[in-house]
Amino acid sequence: MSGIARKVNKYGRITIPIEIRKLLDIDTETDLELLEIENGISLTRITGNSCVFCCSLNHLIAFKRKVICIHCAKQIKRTPLPNEEASAPMR
Ligand SMILES: [Zn+2]
Repeated sequence: MSGIARKVNKYGRITIPIEIRKLLDIDTETDLELLEIENGISLTRITGNSCVFCCSLNHLIAFKRKVICIHCAKQIKRTPLPNEEASAPMR
């Protein structure tokens, strides 16, 4: 799915498009969690214990007070880190 632009109204609200609500089975009683991520916000259904990245309910582990699945944990482990010298603050 590509990005969908929405303006924030004067109350700080946005509307989740009906197509996305139907796709993700989100209705008026659905609990959602907003997480600040790099360059934005992640909006995730709260389903008790589920992976914060992919919402999987299986193969979960706890890490720094968050729940993630082992598949996302493995992906994170394989993701290269930025060069520490290049990202170090200038003195
Ligand atoms: Zn996951």
